[in-house]
Amino acid sequence: MTPPSAAPIHPATAAAIAEAGRLLAEGHLVAFPTETVYGLGADSTSDRAVAAVFAAKGRPSFNPLIVHVADPADAERLVVVDARARALMARFWPGALTLVLPRRADSPVSLLVSAGLDSVAVRLPDHEVARALIRAAGRPVAAPSANRSGAVSPTTAAHVAQSLGDRVAMILDGGPCRVGVESTVLDLCHERPAILRPGGIPMEALADALGEPPLTSGHGGDAPRSPGMLESHYAPGLAVRLCACSPRPGEALLAFGAAPADATLNLSPSGDLEEAAANLFAMLRALDRPEFTGIAVMSIPDRGLGRAINDRLRRAAAPRSSATREAS
Ligand code: AMP
Ligand code: MG
Repeated sequence: MTPPSAAPIHPATAAAIAEAGRLLAEGHLVAFPTETVYGLGADSTSDRAVAAVFAAKGRPSFNPLIVHVADPADAERLVVVDARARALMARFWPGALTLVLPRRADSPVSLLVSAGLDSVAVRLPDHEVARALIRAAGRPVAAPSANRSGAVSPTTAAHVAQSLGDRVAMILDGGPCRVGVESTVLDLCHERPAILRPGGIPMEALADALGEPPLTSGHGGDAPRSPGMLESHYAPGLAVRLCACSPRPGEALLAFGAAPADATLNLSPSGDLEEAAANLFAMLRALDRPEFTGIAVMSIPDRGLGRAINDRLRRAAAPRSSATREAS
């Protein structure tokens, strides 16, 4: 079937989810809500569908995708799950934790998904629409964030329509995303677990579950272990300035907690990090307007979800070479 040229946004009714599942199974791209951000979904077992994801996002083929499943048992068919991984799944799934595990020799997942690595990243999202869609598709669904490569991630269906509306067969609307930042990516392929990307499950919770703090950077070598760790990422059009106390002339001020009267928007007036994470990408988009010369952001405590927020803000503020802009 040929997808419509401009993807309509559909409320995520049972009928729309069934139709979206059918489109996925036929090889089309479908955007859908998760608790973290909206995903750009494709049949993870189809080379053609996976290649279409990279093309739609303008994402370089060395940046691997996360595969989404509806049940932990489905993950066991894709990757080698040991006792440590199983314990983390039991504790954090469904939820904002992606586990990077060795690829099974008989894994049905397209080799393009993992960009030549011998591992696959898997996640079980904590969103009923996402799980119903994966079940309707009848296969694991590869899904990066549903934005053009390098840009701010989408937390509403309207955000997806703005950047990828003409590239997807359907956008399922499940309302704004509850968590608002991407999943934590944890590499379990080595003796010591390593966080490749801070995200919706705080490092403190993982340390507690593992009985030791995970490593917080890659394992060396020239290539980034997780290309999401490249310097510039999540970038709005305007320059971003961090740790601001007040706006410079022409700047918008994105505040946190008690704020000066000239704050333009506030991530969380009460200083709540979960509220701030949920607002982060929508507020960066809202302030990315020509009447401002830049976006100044107040400092955010570097604990709990604050680590994921600061990671995204640092990348949004990083110098933008064309190479790093293309890699996210
Ligand atoms: P996104 O698709 O934008 O949510 O980003 C997914 C993140 O997971 C990126 O940082 C990827 O580099 C990372 N990722 C996915 N698969 C793997 C893998 N097999 N090994 C390491 N990182 C991965
Ligand atoms: Mg992304």
